[in-house]
Amino acid sequence: MTIEMPSPPRIKKGVIVKKYSEEDIYAESERLYNKINQKERWTVDICKTIAPLTLEINQLKKEKDVFLIAHSYQTPDIIYGVADEVSDSYSLSKSARDASQQIILFSSVRFMAETAKIVSPLKTIIHPSPDAGCSLSDGISAGDVRELKRLFPGVPVACYINTTAEVKAECDVCVTSSNYLKICERLPGDKLIFVPDKFMGKHLQNSLRGKKEVIIYDGECEVHAIFTGEKIRNWRKRMNAQGINLTVLSHPECDAEVLEESDIVGSSEVLITKTIELSENGEKNVMLITECGTVDRILAETKNDLNVIGACVMCKHMKKTHLEDILQSLRNPTSEQIIELDDEIILKAKKSLEEMFRLAE
Ligand code: SF4
Repeated sequence: MTIEMPSPPRIKKGVIVKKYSEEDIYAESERLYNKINQKERWTVDICKTIAPLTLEINQLKKEKDVFLIAHSYQTPDIIYGVADEVSDSYSLSKSARDASQQIILFSSVRFMAETAKIVSPLKTIIHPSPDAGCSLSDGISAGDVRELKRLFPGVPVACYINTTAEVKAECDVCVTSSNYLKICERLPGDKLIFVPDKFMGKHLQNSLRGKKEVIIYDGECEVHAIFTGEKIRNWRKRMNAQGINLTVLSHPECDAEVLEESDIVGSSEVLITKTIELSENGEKNVMLITECGTVDRILAETKNDLNVIGACVMCKHMKKTHLEDILQSLRNPTSEQIIELDDEIILKAKKSLEEMFRLAE
């Protein structure tokens, strides 16, 4: 195991947690230790410090009939300690909509909790960290989209799901990292506007060359923007010199040069599935060009020997949510922790999501 991973979080000072018996703490810390499956970083002693929090959160969830969903980039104590479902933003919004519970707690960044509210407007969506943003969604406003539409009248606008509800409401269709190529190709006309991710936009320009002109915006994911093609080439060279064959897997939010150097490109769920498949086929040297949470999930979910080489990058926005925030918002959410959106915005944003379902089929 050669990857540099961030340290596990410690309990925030000042949070009062219920007292549990030694037996309960022992059983819960064993459960966490085995599920997280990173025995050197998440030791039994560390798991013991978080056990009172996970015990109380799980108890409160039952009492209040709350469905707790967490994005893959959340920390392992949240994912394996308290989440009822873990995935990417889009499938989590569908899970929020389909859940029988009327209260959903969405452990992630703000735009994802908003997306859950758009698809389930009658449910209460709790978002424990109202200030957890995203460089992509915060980098574009509804006014910016209106200005693009003014400059290019009649040209369809596709927005990546990493956008606020207001931005989605201004667009014709919403897309995800797994369907943006297919959907944009199907849009009417020979031109389209793609916002806000310039790297996905450039990838789209390359893929649709000769078929459609793609007008792009200047947004980027600050996590995936850090990786470069040169770093991958250097790693491959060093590994090859040792006789090691490296498989590189990247997220499409990376620069086109990174994607060209990669063996597999896909959404977080694709990267997890493909890496586990590789390990089952005996290919154990992988490099994951994405956020560290994806690596945590792979390490927890594979039973095979795996060398994750290089360094992942942590999203500071995703890591803003701690178990203490979840506990506090479950006990007594503040008004900022409950997602409220204007009815008209919900209606218009929902249309862009529905158009995505239609064109993705
Ligand atoms: S990883 Fe990038 S796209 Fe995802 S929330 Fe963080 S900044 Fe936004």
